[in-house]
Amino acid sequence: MTDSADVRDTAHATDAANSADAADLGGPGRLPLTLRRERAVRAAVAQGLIGAHAPVAGLLDVTGIREDARALHAAFAEATAPGTPVLHAFAVKAAPLVPVLELLRAENIGAEVASPGELALARTAGIEPELTVLDSPAKTTAELREALDLGIAVNADNPQELARLDALLTERDPAAAPPRLGIRINPQVGGGSIEALSTATATSKFGVALRDEGARDWLVRAFLDRPWLTRLHTHTGSQGIPLDLLAAGLTETVALAEEINHKAGRRQIDTLDIGGGLPVNFHSDDRTPDFAAYARLLRREVPVLFGGGYGLVTEFGRALLAKHGTALARVEYTKTAGGRPIAVTHAGAQIAARTVYAPESWPLRIAAYDAEGRPKSGPAVAQDVAGPACFAGDLLARDRALPLLEPGDHTAALDTGAYYFAHHYAYNSLVRPPIYGFVAEGDPSAEGADEVRFAVVREQQGLAEVVAESGGGLRGALVGF
Ligand SMILES: *Cc1c(COP(=O)(O)O)cnc(C)c1O
Repeated sequence: MTDSADVRDTAHATDAANSADAADLGGPGRLPLTLRRERAVRAAVAQGLIGAHAPVAGLLDVTGIREDARALHAAFAEATAPGTPVLHAFAVKAAPLVPVLELLRAENIGAEVASPGELALARTAGIEPELTVLDSPAKTTAELREALDLGIAVNADNPQELARLDALLTERDPAAAPPRLGIRINPQVGGGSIEALSTATATSKFGVALRDEGARDWLVRAFLDRPWLTRLHTHTGSQGIPLDLLAAGLTETVALAEEINHKAGRRQIDTLDIGGGLPVNFHSDDRTPDFAAYARLLRREVPVLFGGGYGLVTEFGRALLAKHGTALARVEYTKTAGGRPIAVTHAGAQIAARTVYAPESWPLRIAAYDAEGRPKSGPAVAQDVAGPACFAGDLLARDRALPLLEPGDHTAALDTGAYYFAHHYAYNSLVRPPIYGFVAEGDPSAEGADEVRFAVVREQQGLAEVVAESGGGLRGALVGF
């Protein structure tokens, strides 16, 4: 992830082999991912979606999202035994946007939620309780009660939470539908390249730490004592976890499920929730590894998972959305400092907090476009691509080789469909940028800016809302207090 040379070289890789082409939506006028993005950038500028009134905007490729949703279904349908129930629950935290959740629901994808806010988004998007899983590590009793009342699946994080479920279940109407409850385990198989996203280290805060002394026996007993506990859940980590480590986490999970079922003398655990965490390639437009490769690897490494004895739940977030988002920004000024050119743009920490604060872990490709939104050409010049926030580290790229940017040009931070522009960071009271979904069709060989349709997914935040969120309605609260 630290090889920024790679990131640079591919800033305009229009020849990107599209590894998910097999799952592409067919039909006339279909454009590959890279061309769709270029058409959308051009059209966003031409249609005035970006400009002085809105100097940064998020663009989401609806076709790409649908393609990956279908690729996910196809990958697991191919790998599992016929008739295996599989729920793909999108990790809402990756793109907490109601229209996006609705789009995924239309592709038969549910929701993995981890807060009352995420649950509210999923419900507003029309995602049914049967397609929803609640996973947070800090669920309150009220949240647990609501989840049980709604019929949402819950994975308990720890023994104290399980005790709360015990108590809630005694209040429950015995005639109600059986709850779908499980326990999250931490298989403690180790971390990946990004510590903050590694959830299976020895000391991770999530789940019951399987290898700790006494934990395995406690888990077995917890299931044997509770016939209603029917699921095991593992999420080994997110970006930076190698596939074999994901598989190792699931190997541990399956072994525990088999042990519990053996001791119970029945298939008490009927569903395994395998989490998300498929890493995304931030270096090119290739969707590698893709869902099919991951499913094949799991079938090889953890065959019991797909043998038909267990229903499956998945919780992919980044792998479904990241590659379908582009953060487009205007270049306001350009300057040099200490001999280095700097482009001051409107996209910084407010849309890319991770990249700004942890640039080594989260390098982003930056594409350069001219004032009309056409790919910018010209000799590559090492320059900093800065954001608008008032601290020196507010840079999306340092010393990056790009055609020399000029005021009025545009930059695009690529692969930002998950955990970036939908995750506003309110530093400097910068407004939340607007987000548009787009569909780009047309003849790949013709210039087709007109054939891009946009739909508003989230409005740009207004200043009145910024003021209201900042105590604007509470004037006088402290003066004379
Ligand atoms: C964050 C998270 C996910 C999604 O992770 P991705 O890397 O975005 O696929 C899934 N499950 C749980 C429990 C999570 O915390």
